[in-house]
Amino acid sequence: MATQAAERIKVYARIRPSKESVGHRVLSIHDSSITAKLDREEKTFQFDGVFGEDAAQAEVFETAAARIVTGTLSGFNGTIFAYGQTGSGKTHTMIGPSGKVDSDAGIIPRGLQLLFQELERKAEANPGLFKHSITVSFVELYNEHIYDLIANTDEKLKIGQDSEGGVIVKGATENFVKDINDAMEVVMRGWNNRAVAETAMNRASSRSHALLMIKIRTEEVTGEISHARSAFLNLVDLAGSERVSQSKVEGDRLKETANINKSLLTLKLVIRGLSEKAGFIQFRNSTLTHILKDSLGGNARTAVMINVHPDKMYYSETLSTLNFSAEVRTI
Ligand code: ADP
Ligand code: MG
Repeated sequence: MATQAAERIKVYARIRPSKESVGHRVLSIHDSSITAKLDREEKTFQFDGVFGEDAAQAEVFETAAARIVTGTLSGFNGTIFAYGQTGSGKTHTMIGPSGKVDSDAGIIPRGLQLLFQELERKAEANPGLFKHSITVSFVELYNEHIYDLIANTDEKLKIGQDSEGGVIVKGATENFVKDINDAMEVVMRGWNNRAVAETAMNRASSRSHALLMIKIRTEEVTGEISHARSAFLNLVDLAGSERVSQSKVEGDRLKETANINKSLLTLKLVIRGLSEKAGFIQFRNSTLTHILKDSLGGNARTAVMINVHPDKMYYSETLSTLNFSAEVRTI
């Protein structure tokens, strides 16, 4: 395990392409800040990096994600969250339009590709003395319950502990993957199962978190000594952050909304607590932060990608998303 102190959680923002052919943009970028302006209201938000409407997927990956991916090979747990209202570009950022490793691929395919490239490089540099194994789990968190996206059952999984006291999802499928094709096949199977569960099991995908957990184990022999390392790379497509008016919904929708609010609020408090090095952090207040407790709390590299629309019609939600970013990004 690496022993360096955890570094500050990075917050990035990405503005998706406008849906309107003419003007009416309420956001502008200056260096690493975004200014939201409507009529006489104006507010500026600082980030660790901002990506504009025409930012390439490769640029987003290199700036916000590559270090987190390679850090896992030095024993740093890595986590990347995509936050924003439904339609703001979270899935585009995390997966991309095709689900393939192509020029428009998102963070997940690029991250897996980089991971396997780095492992191959290490194996070539240290022939016969470097070994690795990668397993992938993919779960959906809906109404605070955990569902396996790889096995695609309606069974609710529970949180438990492994033999070393680490947090695990008990019974979640752990798929061993040998290369990038193998890994993307598992990811896309899980992704498609999520769409199936939406209709077959009534788990609205925009109202659930998708959590891809990649476990990386390496063993390297130098001289007489064998170094074993392991780390998690967690890639999270969060539930839509839109504020659904609680007075207008009832039944299932009300429950969903309450659970999303609770888990996004807990995520905010956990990130703040970690940034402020608070003595007690309430990881267990939501399923998402509970599962990620070890990854976020130990030797960690973490980033939040805030996704927003530039258009006037989304102004109110955009402002609420930007306010979330300001609340998590304490320096
Ligand atoms: P979310 O996952 O937040 O609901 P999506 O990623 O599905 O949003 O984006 C909604 C639509 O906008 C999709 O059709 C997606 O392809 C498109 N889109 C989002 N961001 C971009 C972008 N940066 N470039 C091109 N298309 C985008
Ligand atoms: Mg989506």
